[in-house]
Amino acid sequence: MSDVKSGFSIEREGLDLRFRPATLAEREWLAPNYVRVRLIGDQLSGFTSLGADDHMRLFFADAPTDSVEELRAAPSREYTPLAWGESWLDVEFAVHGGEGVGARWAASAPLGSFVGVGGPRGSAVLTGAPGSWLLVGDETAIPAIRRFAAMIPSGDPARIAIEVASEVDQVTLDAPVAVEWLHRGDAPAGSSLIACLDSLGETDAVGPDPFVFIAAEQSIVKPGRALLTRWGVDVSKAVVKGYWKRDETEYHAPH
Ligand SMILES: Cc1cc2nc3c(=O)[nH]c(=O)nc-3n(C[C@H](O)[C@H](O)[C@H](O)COP(=O)(O)OP(=O)(O)OC[C@H]3O[C@@H](n4cnc5c(N)ncnc54)[C@H](O)[C@@H]3O)c2cc1C
Repeated sequence: MSDVKSGFSIEREGLDLRFRPATLAEREWLAPNYVRVRLIGDQLSGFTSLGADDHMRLFFADAPTDSVEELRAAPSREYTPLAWGESWLDVEFAVHGGEGVGARWAASAPLGSFVGVGGPRGSAVLTGAPGSWLLVGDETAIPAIRRFAAMIPSGDPARIAIEVASEVDQVTLDAPVAVEWLHRGDAPAGSSLIACLDSLGETDAVGPDPFVFIAAEQSIVKPGRALLTRWGVDVSKAVVKGYWKRDETEYHAPH
């Protein structure tokens, strides 16, 4: 009999790249600067996302486009598919103060507005059973953290740390362990997470054979990778990613 606790890997799986028109159907504010929206559209039927930290591209065109080329010419940004079903797709947005086209659309586009959904075109699928879990991120990583948290078997050693500006920015998140909410206050984004990662020494691993997911402002990458080295975690069994970059519009994370 195979032992399901014998380990895990991250497997790459490709998906056919599809572009789907959708419209903004609902908006629910979960915190003053954090909003969940529901997109609907017949062509969302068949949408799938195999990996918890998948990303798709949302295209913010002013009106429905006649061709994929026209759609691809519109401003676009990367987001995590949170949940989906027959002809609907939920996405959560950090409504940051950076005047971004994506954040602005999420906060104020009229219901019924058009949006194009591209991808996901590939996934990193967590296969097998990690011995323990460390999930760390800022607001932009909350959707991915929600998806990973839903995969943690109850009783597994796990730690989830999320940085937000202050207590009012915390959102409800289903997880088998309590989320550690870190408040950066007026300090630069990522400061609290970096301090948290830097404080974890070689012997502070959450448990054996950990799956580590770390995503936030780009400055998280260096301390994130340093933690993997301290813990002896193979980079191929972890995700450490900058989800956005300070003072950079339309940041493209290396994949
Ligand atoms: C794989 C992946 C998945 C992602 N999933 C999500 C998701 O599900 N939800 C989500 O909200 N974001 C997510 N992001 C992050 C999102 O793509 C970026 O934050 C993006 O820059 C937002 O676009 P924008 O048009 O609002 O701002 P931009 O026009 O790109 O940037 C304008 C200004 O705002 C700043 N800025 C951008 N993002 C932030 C921020 N979060 N806080 C403070 N300042 C910021 C920029 O540095 C720039 O100065 C994801 C990114 C990646 C790589």
